[in-house]
Amino acid sequence: YDDKTNNVILDWKKAQMSKNSSYGKRTSLSLKEQRESLPVYAMRSQLVQTVRDNQFVVIVGETGSGKTTQIVQYLSEEGFNLDENGNHKIIGCTQPRRVAAVSVAKRVAEEVGCNLGQEVGYTIRFEDETSSKTKIKYMTDGMLQREALNDPYMNKYSVIMLDEAHERTISTDVLFGLLKNACTKNPNLKVLVTSATLDSEKFSKFFNDCPVLTIPGRTYPVEILYTREPELDYLAAVLDSVVQIHISEPTGDILVFLTGQEEIDTCCEALYERMKVLGDTAADLVILPVYAALPAEMQTKIFEPAPPGARKVVIATNIAETSITIDGIYYVVDPGFVKINAYDAKLGMDSLIVSPISQAQANQRSGRAGRTGPGKCYRLYTETAYNNEMMANSIPEIQRQNLSHTILMLKAMGINDLLNFDFMDPPPTNTMLSALQDLYTLSALDEEGYLTKLGRKMADFPMSPPLAKTLITSVEFGCSEEILSIVAMLSVQTIFYRPKDKQNLADQRKARFHHSLGDHLTYLNVYRSWVLNKYSKDWCQDNFIQERSMRRAHEVRRQLLTIMKKYNQNIISCGSDLDKVRRALCSGFFKNSSKRDPQEGYKTVSEGTPVYLHPSSALFGKNPPYVLYHTLLLTTKEYMHCATVINPKWLAELAPTFFQVADPEKANERKKNEKIVPLFDRYAKNQDSWRLSAQNSSK
Ligand code: ADP
Ligand code: MG
Repeated sequence: YDDKTNNVILDWKKAQMSKNSSYGKRTSLSLKEQRESLPVYAMRSQLVQTVRDNQFVVIVGETGSGKTTQIVQYLSEEGFNLDENGNHKIIGCTQPRRVAAVSVAKRVAEEVGCNLGQEVGYTIRFEDETSSKTKIKYMTDGMLQREALNDPYMNKYSVIMLDEAHERTISTDVLFGLLKNACTKNPNLKVLVTSATLDSEKFSKFFNDCPVLTIPGRTYPVEILYTREPELDYLAAVLDSVVQIHISEPTGDILVFLTGQEEIDTCCEALYERMKVLGDTAADLVILPVYAALPAEMQTKIFEPAPPGARKVVIATNIAETSITIDGIYYVVDPGFVKINAYDAKLGMDSLIVSPISQAQANQRSGRAGRTGPGKCYRLYTETAYNNEMMANSIPEIQRQNLSHTILMLKAMGINDLLNFDFMDPPPTNTMLSALQDLYTLSALDEEGYLTKLGRKMADFPMSPPLAKTLITSVEFGCSEEILSIVAMLSVQTIFYRPKDKQNLADQRKARFHHSLGDHLTYLNVYRSWVLNKYSKDWCQDNFIQERSMRRAHEVRRQLLTIMKKYNQNIISCGSDLDKVRRALCSGFFKNSSKRDPQEGYKTVSEGTPVYLHPSSALFGKNPPYVLYHTLLLTTKEYMHCATVINPKWLAELAPTFFQVADPEKANERKKNEKIVPLFDRYAKNQDSWRLSAQNSSK
């Protein structure tokens, strides 16, 4: 059922599932008893009173103390769903992660005793499980930020809890400023900020020195063990540690932190193999992966206790650091890495990189072992590395990521004076300028930095500005039917899979969909064939296509269609004139264009960075002179993910503010090999005058 490239893994997942289903009842405590045993319960009346008396409250508490699931329920039970005039108001709670929003909403619906989507619901991008009855709504912070576009003072809500604030995602950081401002306009709104770590002073200061409530922790000591030498292969070290703990340590479950899905699946598979070798000599080990793309059935499995005599090992991304709490963990294995999204303003590229965690994260991770009893944390790095190489705290996302989407949203809310926006930690000016420049070259902003009509339309689409621009342009070019399918396909993770024992067959099947002009059109072929084959599961299996991804793409497409209709964007097919599709892609992704390098591979047109066609691309081995790509994927090399052939003339035509056809005389000279020269960045030259106009505009 899942995003994996290989059968063995599919098999062991099935094995784990059937093992799990023989579990007994989860626990003998009733839900009510469970709720009342949480540390936050003792603070209930104090908490409710503090919220009544204050507009802002900061709440600090250990992970697992009940902040996310309980506080909103207390407020709902105490009547916060009605305002003084008897109008219905929602109690909202944001989460940085989609999975957490969904899993917590499910849990709370169960505790409240309602169907999900009724009194308790959730909203994440492309999924809305709420109704007019909804009293408690969990959502991603990105969704609430989006709601601020139409409801800047948050009139639908009586209370908004910004949960997991210590994660400092861009959206949470922006919401800090937006909600602080909303509260001055809407005196009935309450804002709660919760954090698992001790950033409380900083949060309180930002929110006008508001009160800080601390939920007393109930934790046990955790023994920290470091490696003597740095580990060269941390995956191997993880396997050794887990097996070692399983064989020699007393009962208690294990939690391992890895960086991503692929790594987790590989590790689970390897561990399963090792356990097979050990056979009956060792007790049963239930292996459970946890990452964002995990199917829902598996997600509930992780909370179930292991059967008697067996031990459970949960192998998770840093989602298990604070967002979700699994009871019964006595051992934590921490290799010390995390995958983060980082933006290099100079290169103008976003990429996922694996980076060392901070000391705060390391401590948060080890703390996970001390919730049920005294625990142990195995740090797969040296004590010296902890003391000297790790930063005390992680850098907030807003200071390291591409801000073009965020800035577009702020501009659409009428916030022009970005340099004076109330950021808790303002992003570096360079990052802001490069985002402004990106938006300008996309024609979303004019030369003075004001939102254009196109820019306003782009803000209505919950996606990156280049994708939004592509969608809107496709209407003008008469190919929105096709672009909708392509954008939907781009929004899902993996479409194809390659089982290890059937790689050739899988590749052959995939090649049948290949379009000679590239991967975007290949995706279109796949989507269309799937529809023609009546969304058949068997067809997916025959073609080594992830059915789950296809269903998700279909759902995304449906949601996009709703947005398009809402904003009167016509859905038009270009028939066989697929140049229109490629030109529409060019209008949004011109910056991601690259030119074949006479030596080897490609170089990006704008920066000259060396990049390569991925072996799985429909264009691999064909090496057309110019291509555009969807994203870059850094593995052994910088690979272009999803590449399509383009005509370089389109670049100058569709992005005149970014590319310019060189001076005719010079152009003649250089015509043979180079027609296009990147235009210099106007903002870089006129930074000061831009700032002036941005500041004036706020008045
Ligand atoms: P916090 O937000 O303070 O970290 P939560 O409110 O998320 O705490 O969790 C409180 C407790 O609720 C956890 O210790 C866990 O036992 C339980 N819990 C939360 N989500 C689930 C779930 N989906 N299934 C079972 N138990 C859960
Ligand atoms: Mg929580």
